[in-house]
Amino acid sequence: MNIAKEIKSYQSFLSSYNAKLVAVSKTKPNDLIMDAYNCGQRIFGENKVQELVSKHEALPKDIEWHMIGHLQTNKVKYIAPFVSLIHSVDSIKLLKEINKQAAKNNRIINILLQVHIAQEEHKFGFNLTELSETYNEIKKLELKNIRITGFMGMATNTSNQEIINSEFKSLQKTFETIKGQHPTDDLSEISMGMSNDYKIALENGSTLIRIGSAIFGKRNYV
Ligand SMILES: *Cc1c(COP(=O)(O)O)cnc(C)c1O
Repeated sequence: MNIAKEIKSYQSFLSSYNAKLVAVSKTKPNDLIMDAYNCGQRIFGENKVQELVSKHEALPKDIEWHMIGHLQTNKVKYIAPFVSLIHSVDSIKLLKEINKQAAKNNRIINILLQVHIAQEEHKFGFNLTELSETYNEIKKLELKNIRITGFMGMATNTSNQEIINSEFKSLQKTFETIKGQHPTDDLSEISMGMSNDYKIALENGSTLIRIGSAIFGKRNYV
């Protein structure tokens, strides 16, 4: 992979959208991350807490680290001091723990609610049809140390573009509805789209695309 070339081409492609690139560096070594960093990339996504912590320690401190993978409540404390966005908040229990750990660190942590939009059962996330009620319930908790900046969704792993398109569209629609119900909230992000479906995601209003293998090459494990 020519990482610099890939990063530059995504950056220029994205300049016509209101969207940012999250370079998904999971399983990839620090020297490859530095190749991306050296051509201006600052947002990196990881899905394992231990890997995220050790890369944060080793690499430049102006990197914005995004947690994109399933997060266990007992591990929140390790990333709470530095994480800039958690995409994968899929339960109220987790939300409360992030709030607690953020308070301990005197921070407000930005988070996205992960929403289940795929046909596949195994994917995590809040129920799409109940999202508006869930959002209201969460607001009532008055968690002062988290800021919900939007939603994250993963489409079904399929080559059928129509299925992917309709799943992304359903999240965008619900995002717009909830934003309309809460006009003064900080809702501005929709994290949708990976290496294989980011173009469809951008057409449906994605503001954060999460690209791994198309930049860093195939992974040996997930
Ligand atoms: C691994 C991963 C990605 C990146 O996937 P690619 O297909 O390699 O682009 C995006 N989002 C999440 C949540 C991931 O775990």
